[in-house]
Amino acid sequence: MEPACFLSPFDDHVLGSDLYKSSQPTVVSPKSDRMEPPKTAEPTRIIVDPGTGRAYSKGRLLGKGGFARCYEATDLSSNKTYAVKVIPHTRVAKPHQREKINNEIELHRDLHHKHIVKFSHHFEDSENIYIFLEHCSRKSLAHIWKSRHTLLEPEVRYYLKQIISALKYLHLKGILHRDLKLGNFFVNENMELKVGDFGLAARQEPTDHKKKTICGTPNYLAPEVLLRQGHGPESDVWSLGCVMYTLLCGTPPFETSDLKETYRCIKHVTYTLPPSLSIPARNLLMGILKLNPEERFTLEEILDHEFFTKGYTPDKLPPSSCVMVPELNPPNPAKSLFVKVTKTLFGKRKSKIKKAPSEERDDISKLVTGLMKTSICRQLSHKTVEGNELTPLSGQSPSSSPVQTVAEESSQKSISRSVRGTMASSCEVFDDCITASAIIESAVGLLKNCLSHMPPAEKNPASLACHEHFVWVSKWVDYSNKYGFGYQLSNHSIGVLFNDGTHMSLSANWKKVHYNLTNSKHFSFLASAVPEQLQGQMSVLQYFASYMEQHLMKGGDLPSIEEAGQLPLLLLQWVKTNQALMMLFSNGTLQVNFYNDHTKVIFSKPDHTCLITYINRDRNSYTYKLSSIAELGCSPELQRRLKYILKLLQQRADV
Ligand code: ADP
Repeated sequence: MEPACFLSPFDDHVLGSDLYKSSQPTVVSPKSDRMEPPKTAEPTRIIVDPGTGRAYSKGRLLGKGGFARCYEATDLSSNKTYAVKVIPHTRVAKPHQREKINNEIELHRDLHHKHIVKFSHHFEDSENIYIFLEHCSRKSLAHIWKSRHTLLEPEVRYYLKQIISALKYLHLKGILHRDLKLGNFFVNENMELKVGDFGLAARQEPTDHKKKTICGTPNYLAPEVLLRQGHGPESDVWSLGCVMYTLLCGTPPFETSDLKETYRCIKHVTYTLPPSLSIPARNLLMGILKLNPEERFTLEEILDHEFFTKGYTPDKLPPSSCVMVPELNPPNPAKSLFVKVTKTLFGKRKSKIKKAPSEERDDISKLVTGLMKTSICRQLSHKTVEGNELTPLSGQSPSSSPVQTVAEESSQKSISRSVRGTMASSCEVFDDCITASAIIESAVGLLKNCLSHMPPAEKNPASLACHEHFVWVSKWVDYSNKYGFGYQLSNHSIGVLFNDGTHMSLSANWKKVHYNLTNSKHFSFLASAVPEQLQGQMSVLQYFASYMEQHLMKGGDLPSIEEAGQLPLLLLQWVKTNQALMMLFSNGTLQVNFYNDHTKVIFSKPDHTCLITYINRDRNSYTYKLSSIAELGCSPELQRRLKYILKLLQQRADV
């Protein structure tokens, strides 16, 4: 079966759950059981390639450019997500405009580099030209700069190295970018930088034929371009210097309130170096921002500069660094902050195996990986458009400035502060935690095996009588455009996976709070003694709890079970497609909720036997052994869903 291509009414909503009470927007469910597009689907939201017949669903708007609007787009047959630039023919009616687009396509399609936005394909219909590009879910350095204003030197090195690698490739191919600026450095889900927008790019010409056109962003224009002496690779290097300056100092080097004055400053290379800059950073900037292009550092010289050779460059940056200052630990730190805090506060770690120092360093990378994995949700998630957010309930606003509170207080630094002065009742470090990728891998194996062996059948095998031994998600709220993803489990506990990858949960009786920095670092507190520094998260958690209590209904008839004394379940990852929400838990449970008809499939392994529970549209639940399904087959209704889940999991496994 091809994946379903209906347009979920949830596409543009952050909040979701199983059934809304009347105060919520009406959710229109297609009548038929088959996961097909409803007849009423908005035609403009589907793009069809007239050449191949391939259909794409157009998702949210990512941004607007000179000619184009850029949207998220999903190939309905492969579920692959792209960023699609949609250029109306009317916008490029003049020959020189059309030529520009053709030039962009021509140049970009031949570029294949890790740090260049991948050009996938293009086509046009009677209304528009469509250019399908690699989707960079974390937008661009311009967005990061807007939130952060200045970055740390290691972060600047991290990004610049990737830009330089792309630029070396371009220049080697004889291509000049000619519009290097923060907004054209895209960042993907894994925090990798990708140079994009080849709208002004051009092939390098011999000196006497150099392009004399003035193009680029005024602030970053090189003096020789302004003086119409032509644009060479050195002019890209100049812009790179301006980018470096902007990221380190917070404003472009030649910015003034008057464009003429800016141009005068560029032509005379008049700029100031703030005293906060390190000596190597100053020296490097001075070597790049030279009037004479021939005297300017080359890309090689930049990389060989002590700014790069002597300074620490992280291998990865946490996604949280898009909005807040990251805590970066250079290699060979004496101890990671976490280990230090844990030791100081709790004397000993309850680690099963004593870790070597190198493994302690892994704690940081695990944390980073955790953050990155968590944020996978953003890649497929069709989050709300601005202004369609879940707004705080009256009288229950979590805090005066909740976003800031979460951002600030969930940093590790704050955690160390918070835990230091509190009554944390326990802190545990686990070495054998299951990861989301392990769950995905195992589920892919089991499902593949089951689907390839099962015989055709019209109905499901006999369901098990007793199926109350596992916990499942009965309500959920996606508030990730502000805080994170909240959910209520069938045992009545509440959890929130915050956008920064930390997790907090509240026991069913609301007496105990568990806080996880990562999958394997666990703190617990009495709800009455949550450290001050975690109060922001606590308020958000309580807010989610009361919201779900008041507004959402439980999503099925499965009985609730009492919370046992063991550790709470952790949501490791959630992924939203236009059809379903998938959630992965630390005990290996995997739950997929289909939006259109509220059906759900839950994989659980309560006692090492893999069970599949299907909650149908009437909210009746049936649990089967996966082995019985493999042996006897299942209804087409369930089979379609299992196939969809397998596809989704395989896609995640490839990430
Ligand atoms: P411009 O060249 O005027 O910036 P573009 O058409 O290249 O216009 O892009 C418009 C906007 O679309 C960008 O500013 C950015 O927000 C978004 N965008 C473009 N390409 C991508 C991409 N590959 N991934 C994510 N967003 C993108």
